[in-house]
Amino acid sequence: MRRHIPRYKLQSVTNCWAQPHVDSRCNIFDRGFYRSVDVEWRIVLPQKNLSLANHLIATLPPLERAVLLAQSELVELELHAMVCVAGEISRHVWFPVEGFVSIILPVPAAADMAVAQVGPEGMFQTSAVFDVEHSAFHGRVQAAGRAFRMTRTILQQHLQQSRCLRAVLNRYGDARLSQLAQQTVCINHHSVEQRLARVLLMTRDRLCSNEIFLTHDVFSNMLGVRRESVTQAASAFQRRGFISYSRGYVMLLDEDALQSMACGCYEADLQTYERAFPAVATFPFDADSPVDVTSK
Ligand SMILES: [Zn+2]
Repeated sequence: MRRHIPRYKLQSVTNCWAQPHVDSRCNIFDRGFYRSVDVEWRIVLPQKNLSLANHLIATLPPLERAVLLAQSELVELELHAMVCVAGEISRHVWFPVEGFVSIILPVPAAADMAVAQVGPEGMFQTSAVFDVEHSAFHGRVQAAGRAFRMTRTILQQHLQQSRCLRAVLNRYGDARLSQLAQQTVCINHHSVEQRLARVLLMTRDRLCSNEIFLTHDVFSNMLGVRRESVTQAASAFQRRGFISYSRGYVMLLDEDALQSMACGCYEADLQTYERAFPAVATFPFDADSPVDVTSK
């Protein structure tokens, strides 16, 4: 999931979601892509093949990918929507193609904590892969976009039939576990500034943009610290020219400096993912020939 920032432009537009186009090979293309990130602004990205926009789906052989997508629906991830509530039965799984969902751990008598992000590199509700019905986490959309959604039942049918899908999702589940363990180390051993730099870079990677629309409250939940601590760290970054920010908008100005500032957990997460998916680690994945990971 290496960093790659595509060329894009900002437009002030309303109600301009593009309708996806499906071609005869079951590939799904956008004719202009509009991501709702704010009331007034939309980010317009170049045309892309949605069939390959989620890394996990992209790794499947073309026929398996087409069959899986035929039994999925492309849904909007509305900003702040709860796609899953902890303790409840989760009936769906999501493979984001844009935006990201935060995995949130409810903390009794304290603020909930976002322990991970799931964007186009992954899936939300890995519990379904292990045939667990109840979710341990909330899933909240923190950056609007779209996702392929399917029922747990459909996913499990495919898992029984597809060795490749099993391999992909088992590898992803294992990588996810390693990244959660890394997060535990991060919270206990690294400074707020180091962790804020890491979170900014992680968010940039998933959004493919150096402009991020998130409030300090959201960063506070991601870092498990008070909002004032986030403001203090962000102000220090702004003074040093690393970022500029105002009211829920952050522009990354010096990404090299942020990478130098970030703790090693950022690079460790990338390496974990690249070990799991060595041939598709470049982000975004847009090759026409998916990789059968079971042959590795
Ligand atoms: Zn760390």
